[in-house]
Amino acid sequence: MSVVELSPRVEKLRKLLEDFVENECIPAEDEYKRELGDGAERWQKVPQVMERLKKRAQTLGLWNLFLPKEYPEGAGLTNYEYAILCEIMGRSPAIAPEACNCSAPDTGNMEVFAKYGTQEQKQKWLQPLLEGRIRSAFAMTEPQVASSDATNICTRIERSGDGYVVNGRKWWISGAGHPNCAVFITMGKTDLGAHKHKQQSIVVVPADAPGVKVVRPLTVFGYDDAPHGHCEVVFENVWVPRENLILGEGRGFEVIQGRLGPGRIHHCMRSLGMAERGLELMIQRVQTRTTFNRKISEHGVVLDYIAKSRMDLESARMLVLRAADMIDKVGAKNALKEIAMAKVVVPNVVLSILDRAIQMFGAAGVGQDTPLADFWAGMRTLRIADGPDEVHTRQIAQLEIRQQNAKLAARKQTQPLARL
Ligand SMILES: Cc1cc2nc3c(=O)[nH]c(=O)nc-3n(C[C@H](O)[C@H](O)[C@H](O)COP(=O)(O)OP(=O)(O)OC[C@H]3O[C@@H](n4cnc5c(N)ncnc54)[C@H](O)[C@@H]3O)c2cc1C
Repeated sequence: MSVVELSPRVEKLRKLLEDFVENECIPAEDEYKRELGDGAERWQKVPQVMERLKKRAQTLGLWNLFLPKEYPEGAGLTNYEYAILCEIMGRSPAIAPEACNCSAPDTGNMEVFAKYGTQEQKQKWLQPLLEGRIRSAFAMTEPQVASSDATNICTRIERSGDGYVVNGRKWWISGAGHPNCAVFITMGKTDLGAHKHKQQSIVVVPADAPGVKVVRPLTVFGYDDAPHGHCEVVFENVWVPRENLILGEGRGFEVIQGRLGPGRIHHCMRSLGMAERGLELMIQRVQTRTTFNRKISEHGVVLDYIAKSRMDLESARMLVLRAADMIDKVGAKNALKEIAMAKVVVPNVVLSILDRAIQMFGAAGVGQDTPLADFWAGMRTLRIADGPDEVHTRQIAQLEIRQQNAKLAARKQTQPLARL
């Protein structure tokens, strides 16, 4: 829900998307699960229902909405406008974002290619990604080191002839299991002697390059999230040509920072879509069952759960929309605090809303007949993925102190006699 009036074009997209998600994506969720099947086959094919919905989204003009307006390849929306649409997709998180070619990690990766890629890289990787013909992964986290501090990353990217050799072990690489995953945007170190934020570089590693091995999918509370998954991946003497370097040696941090800002807002808005759906299910459920001579919805504590959920959801949404608006107006670099605040607040708020919804469903809430348990498991990972809560709160505090000090210094200059 927007706090400002949307343009007629975005309003039209919003209505179309709402209709697509409610009437085509959500009803397709069971079919998608059935088509995925069991065991190893879950990683070997893309359910046809997804391919059908992708075509449908293209026909409806609901394709590639994510790429901000500064890129000619995008749909021309602001981050704020896209955030509104992203929430709607979040109502069916396993189907709608992919159907609209707006799912992570592809969106962030496409943004990397659009922002930093050479013409050749764009042609080779961005174009097929924009067309939804391939998928991609972002490979940073490593099992051997605490990866929430990316200076710890120890994968090596070493010059060799007119290219680089990549050696390292990554894990939790989302999308790596997908049969169409064609490319890894990979972070490693090119220069161990450089300043600690200049040692890292990003190279594009084709998934079929000799030496790339997807070792195993990891599970999230038992969910494998097939067919894309989150995988352990080994790069063993993988050679890539020099033109696969992104932006330049030592500029890895620049690339990941450019990638993560808007992406975090997208995660937040999708999460709010999940919370909206959770709240809706909760409200429907509590009106249909009775305990101790009254509907569950009539017990005071349940009214409190509903009210608290709505208040939390609305407050969290304001925070995300403000961050999206700031990205549009002053750029992601100047909206770091707002992005970090949204990234911490939203998953926690959504988790508590989903938890209340699960509680209101009783045993059914933790089972497979509602999407709530699946949503909760996915949401719990967001307190860790893309940087754990503590890393963001640390950044919020540091920025806050810096801003307060700057304010104080300015005040002292203009009002030398002002008291504390
Ligand atoms: C479902 C899922 C998908 C993911 N997808 C990807 C992906 O596609 N690509 C990718 O590269 N990575 C991915 N990740 C990995 C994710 O980004 C990392 O797990 C995250 O950055 C944390 O790194 P770590 O696991 O090494 O934890 P560590 O760095 O070992 O940290 C462990 C814990 O220490 C605490 N901590 C850390 N720093 C501080 C601090 N400054 N103050 C206080 N406490 C602190 C935090 O609670 C943190 O959770 C994914 C993770 C999950 C769960």
